[in-house]
Amino acid sequence: MTFASLGLIEPLLRALETLGYQTPTPVQAQAIPAVLAGRDLMAAAQTGTGKTAGFGLPLLQRLTQEGAVVAPNSVRALILVPTRELAEQVHANIAEYAEHLPLRTYAVYGGVSINPQMMKLRKGVDLLVATPGRLLDLFRQNAVKFSQLQTLVLDEADRMLDLGFSEELRDIYKALPKKRQTLLFSATFSEAIRAMAGQTLDNPLSIEVSPRNVAASTVKQWIVTVDKKRKPELFIHLLKQQHWKQVLVFAKTRKGVDELVDRLQGLGINADGIHGDKPQATRQRALDRFKASEVQILVATDVAARGLDIEELPTVVNFDLPIVAEDYVHRIGRTGRAGLSGEAISLVCADEVQLLAAIEALTRQTLRRIQEPDFEPDHRVPETSASGEVVKKPKKPKKPKASSGKRNLGKWVDSGDSEPAPAAKPVRKVPVFNTGPRKRKP
Ligand code: AMP
Repeated sequence: MTFASLGLIEPLLRALETLGYQTPTPVQAQAIPAVLAGRDLMAAAQTGTGKTAGFGLPLLQRLTQEGAVVAPNSVRALILVPTRELAEQVHANIAEYAEHLPLRTYAVYGGVSINPQMMKLRKGVDLLVATPGRLLDLFRQNAVKFSQLQTLVLDEADRMLDLGFSEELRDIYKALPKKRQTLLFSATFSEAIRAMAGQTLDNPLSIEVSPRNVAASTVKQWIVTVDKKRKPELFIHLLKQQHWKQVLVFAKTRKGVDELVDRLQGLGINADGIHGDKPQATRQRALDRFKASEVQILVATDVAARGLDIEELPTVVNFDLPIVAEDYVHRIGRTGRAGLSGEAISLVCADEVQLLAAIEALTRQTLRRIQEPDFEPDHRVPETSASGEVVKKPKKPKKPKASSGKRNLGKWVDSGDSEPAPAAKPVRKVPVFNTGPRKRKP
């Protein structure tokens, strides 16, 4: 499947090309056609699934193709998010997607001066990303009007309720036109979220993109934390230290595949790469040679590697974590096949912590961390857990303990304790829609 086949217009496809997005993620494949068709959506999807592009791309397309020019102080599409960090992040993504479109986009949130935001809104904004509290302040001061609003997105709706924004949300709904498209994204679906969905959505399409999926238990899994720029060096170090016989390596982009293959070949290492840009015959030849053990290291993108069946493959390395947690399970499923044991090692940098949390939530285990000496990251990777939580304040890395016996940090020793943790309990949410206590305002 391609983004073009989902009906996206050329300026968006061009932006995606620049960003290196090759294939729609499952949430994108389902959401894009539905949003383009004007449907309401109720989507169970967390960060890391590509949900921002899932609603952002079709939204931008509709704004480009439909409706009037935005009037002063007006907004045509509104994305509500729980925190200012998320507002910045979502807006940064949207701005990248909208690069070749004649649309005005902007983000407003609390904790900063309101005046520049009021100035900016004067000319009108096609797509506004906002936290609920600041949006309401702006509305009450007549800095923003909703008469032109055609689409509302509630992103991370469960976190908005947890942060006590239910009253603000109710006041915002009152100010919006009744006739509009509404898209609701939430990682969890508590009673309160269902109540909100019942009040705000009209015959929504339901999307669920994180089916329970437990990784093969015959595969021993570890992560090694490292700074992004040092991943190639770490990979080469581990390859030698671990005496890896044959490795299938997954990288995120075509460019990433080519760069790693070049570097390995430059060192005289027997490596080849496959990705969507290479002719089919070349891909097939690389794969055949890898299967015949004539190539030691095959570097691949997900798109090229799906469904690979390689007999007795001992090692899979995630040079980059997959953006879709389910792909982690597919990737590591390339090893440990037919009852044979295998190992799957992921090189994880700070940028990828949300992806790691999503993988751990999906596979219901906290992946064992190894800190390789001399590769300690400057940008620490916060602790994660099988509940899918990221512990915000990163802990200082512990010094290796020689006394731990089983687990020899820094050396690649198998402690044999890779059993998955017990199924994660759902995180308890504040069970109210109307009266939730306010814990924090962004
Ligand atoms: P999100 O779940 O929207 O926060 O997206 C997670 C990450 O995946 C972001 O860094 C996006 O830029 C990236 N991403 C989203 N969709 C794709 C795609 N189809 N291909 C490659 N990367 C993507």
